[in-house]
Amino acid sequence: MNTAQCKGCGAAIKFIRMKSGKMMPVNPEPYMADQSRTGKEIFVRPDGELIKGKSICKLDPGTKHAGYDHYIPHWASCPAAKQFKKQEKDRFEQATIF
Ligand SMILES: [Zn+2]
Repeated sequence: MNTAQCKGCGAAIKFIRMKSGKMMPVNPEPYMADQSRTGKEIFVRPDGELIKGKSICKLDPGTKHAGYDHYIPHWASCPAAKQFKKQEKDRFEQATIF
């Protein structure tokens, strides 16, 4: 997985390739998430699937959690993302790639 730094806030981020081929910036900490609850949090799975659920606990990023690791899109927690208007969110995602 690629690692980088967010241009907006300087935080460490990772990129996950979405099914569409687009790279999604995510926070590097994996979470265990439950899809069966009525969670409203958005997670990205390492296979590029976007899911809605509820975080259960933070996972140790140093170990493998095949099938259990879910990542939070960086723009959901980035303090700099608030500067961006909703319609510019897409452009923001693109901009963080380079
Ligand atoms: Zn950021």
